[in-house]
This record gives sequence, C-alpha cells and structure tokens, in this order.
Amino acid sequence: RVKTNKNLTIKSKPTPVQPSLTKKRQDYLEWPEYFMAVAFLSAQRSKDPSSQVGACIVNQENKIVGIGYNGMPNGCDDDLLPWSRSADNKLDTKYPYVCHAELNAIMNKNSADVKGCTMYVALFPCNECTKLIIQAGIKDVIYLSDKYHDTPEMTASRRLLNLAGITYKQFQPKQGRIVIDFNSINHPGLKTSSGFGGVQSP
Ligand SMILES: [Zn+2]
Repeated sequence: RVKTNKNLTIKSKPTPVQPSLTKKRQDYLEWPEYFMAVAFLSAQRSKDPSSQVGACIVNQENKIVGIGYNGMPNGCDDDLLPWSRSADNKLDTKYPYVCHAELNAIMNKNSADVKGCTMYVALFPCNECTKLIIQAGIKDVIYLSDKYHDTPEMTASRRLLNLAGITYKQFQPKQGRIVIDFNSINHPGLKTSSGFGGVQSP
C-alpha cells in the first residue's frame, strides 16, 4: 500500500515581479550608523555642560537592548550636585557622582542580560566602565572618539579589554552628520542633501 501525502507542498518558483515595482530606497541608514546615531541622540539628554556621551547596546539580532547617557544617579537631585570639572575640593567636581553612559546603558537593559552584545558609545570607555562592560558579558565595543587615549584611565581600559578578549574598534562614519528633520514626514519625496530627512555630507 502506497501512502500518499496530501500535505506535501510543491515549491513553485516565485512569480517574477517587474523590477520597477521592487525598487527600494538606496540611501537608508545602515545598522552601525543607526546605532551610533541612537547613542548620539541619547547623549542630547545629558545635563552635563562639558561632556555629553551616549551609549547604545545591541544584541546579535541587531535589536537595541539598552540605551544610556551620562547623568547623576537616580533620585539624586542634579541641581544639588556639582557639574564642574575642577575645584579645590574633588567633592565639588562632578567626578565622584556622575554615572557614565555605559553604566546607565547596562543598568537600563530591557533584556535579561547583555551577554554577547555590542556596545556603541560616543567616547572610548574609561576603566570603570570597562569593568562593567566586561562583567556584563559585552563582547564588542564600537566607539567614535578616543580623545583621552593617553590618560591612565584609557590605558588601563585597553589593558583590561585586551585581557578579557573584548574587541574594540573606532567607528568610521560614512557621513559627518545626520540631521533629523521633523518636517520631512510631511514632504516624503523631498530630498534634502540626501535621503532620510537630511543627511549632510561632512
Ligand atoms: Zn566611564
């Protein structure tokens, strides 16, 4: 007795579609630029007058699982804490109090953990944040600026990242600036210098 399988589906070739109907937008934002831009946008929330840093944690499915920017700890009135970079007494500077973007991004995670994730961050992480990055299981760090490269903090940071086997790479943006133009939604066909409501060349 031969059993026939009525549930067998026969794969047919997909019907060809006219190429003119499948034309996609070409100048969309690629993932790395998108994640770094999210980090930079979040930095705009910072109240720090001298340094605005944002961080964005992304899992292996390109999903954002944490965002943070530098600020005073939760519940601590930031009008009652100093924002200064220098003072006679270190307690009158921001340094003993402020939470860096990386710390906040990790603490703000909306997933069970951030193991195996990539962190996009505006500034190369300091040694304290690097400790958190390592302990959280983040595997890659992509940063934009390395302006404090020669400080002991960053040197210690590189030492730890190297030992922990975490890769770190400087981000090379394809465009110098991304402009968010709220008005672009009303004029979807209108191109500014390129694409999504305004990407401007450097
Ligand atoms: Zn830090």
